[in-house]
Amino acid sequence: MTVDTAMLNANYKQKVQLQRTYFTEHVPFSLTYRVQQLKLLKQAITDNQDALIEALNTDLNKPEFEAYLTEVGFVLNELSDTIKHLKKWMKPQKVTTPYYLQPAKSHIHASPLGVCLIIAPFNYPVSLCLSPLIAALAAGNTCIVKTSELTPTVSQVLTSMINATFPPEYVQCVEGEVEQVTALLTQKFDHIFFTGSTQVGKIVMQAAAKQLTPVTLELGGKSPCIVCADTNIDVAVKRIVYGKMLNTGQTCVAPDYLLIDEKIKDKFLQTLVKRIIDLYGEDASTSGDLGRIVSQSHTQRISRLIDAKKVIVGGDIDITQRYIAPTVMDNVSLDDAIMQEEVFGPVLPVISFIKFAEVLEVIDRLPAHPLSAYIFTESKQTQSLLTSKIQAGGLAINQCIQHLANPNLPFGGVGLSGIGSYHGKHGFDCFSHQKSVLTAATWLDLPLLYPPYKHKLSLLKKYLNNSAHQLLIKP
Ligand code: NAD
Repeated sequence: MTVDTAMLNANYKQKVQLQRTYFTEHVPFSLTYRVQQLKLLKQAITDNQDALIEALNTDLNKPEFEAYLTEVGFVLNELSDTIKHLKKWMKPQKVTTPYYLQPAKSHIHASPLGVCLIIAPFNYPVSLCLSPLIAALAAGNTCIVKTSELTPTVSQVLTSMINATFPPEYVQCVEGEVEQVTALLTQKFDHIFFTGSTQVGKIVMQAAAKQLTPVTLELGGKSPCIVCADTNIDVAVKRIVYGKMLNTGQTCVAPDYLLIDEKIKDKFLQTLVKRIIDLYGEDASTSGDLGRIVSQSHTQRISRLIDAKKVIVGGDIDITQRYIAPTVMDNVSLDDAIMQEEVFGPVLPVISFIKFAEVLEVIDRLPAHPLSAYIFTESKQTQSLLTSKIQAGGLAINQCIQHLANPNLPFGGVGLSGIGSYHGKHGFDCFSHQKSVLTAATWLDLPLLYPPYKHKLSLLKKYLNNSAHQLLIKP
């Protein structure tokens, strides 16, 4: 189907203009208004939760448990947390004012940015669309939200839900593919929040740069999972299999590959293989707990990364059914295809190390700073060494993925894995401008700063060198 670009641009321009007028007329939305809107969203999600869970099952074969845990329940929890804390987050933050500016008071006001654009990916199509929306509305913005075209059923439910809940001048959900995003990106937004691949993140940032629009980029990368010889093998295996197979490996923070101490590799892999078979059965295609890859082309992409000679469990693929069995590949080297890109599927490559220095060498040889890193060890010294050495968006020690479930921790990447962060108060901050406000008193007006400057320089030097405390007049 050919797209009329001029019509598309005009249509989006009108949508943005509608929101800009509404924003300008109402800024700043009051606490009461924002809470009301968040409650409306909460009600809408609650009313539509069955439809959302069913749609997630249709598009990704997501098990109901996972759909609730990582999507519907996740955003409902984020909404409750935001509603509970919003009054505190909105309160101007008092900061100290140095003596040379007295008498005065200083505050930081979190002020809204304006009209925001949120672009969502396919893998957690509900939470990665609604979670930034919650933060944007809490911070007092208006929003246009673009869902992922790869999960069309979810996209349809979200679009009708959002557009039935909010007026278009406040929040509007749009559907579309590359052409639509391209047209959207030619509009002037006040902030763009993009979640997706590093490759598309670059396109978004280039388009945003033309209008000098600030961006938050939540991207991907190869997140390493380091397993040291002193780890609790049973617990590590359970947590790694869970982190890898959740959403069939289509999780931006999934452990991408394993770096394991040669000393425990055999025992670890035996336990790992057993765990996978225990959880998903000899034929995982019949398991109700394993989802499907989002599309046939993504299934094909992942299948090309699998080297059958290195597979120790799994390896079964059915492209038409978008099925890939939970798979582990042993004796992987950095030159293998699977180490050239983010796996984003249920395939775990294993690389072993003999000397600990090899761990950092491997991570450094891969192009991006990963979105996450995982370290399994009981040694506090190793935990502390790797925490300070590894450049990653976030880190979990003796655990996988769960750091992103704590709303008190900022979630975001570094380097090629992203720019900016959100969740909880960090999301509110992400969609706010930290406005500096200095309020001066008028009962004193020091003449020192004003011309004529003659004979004042030595006094100024004393004053600014903090040696003139006797001049400090407390209000
Ligand atoms: P994607 O980059 O292909 O698509 C994301 C969005 O960009 C979609 O809405 C799509 O319509 C749009 N898009 C795609 N191609 C475009 C183009 N050429 N121009 C303009 N817009 C375009 O990502 P995806 O495949 O949906 O998601 C998987 C990727 O997202 C993985 O790399 C994963 O690591 C990353 N991801 C990151 C996070 C995070 O929070 N950091 C979360 C989920 C996924």
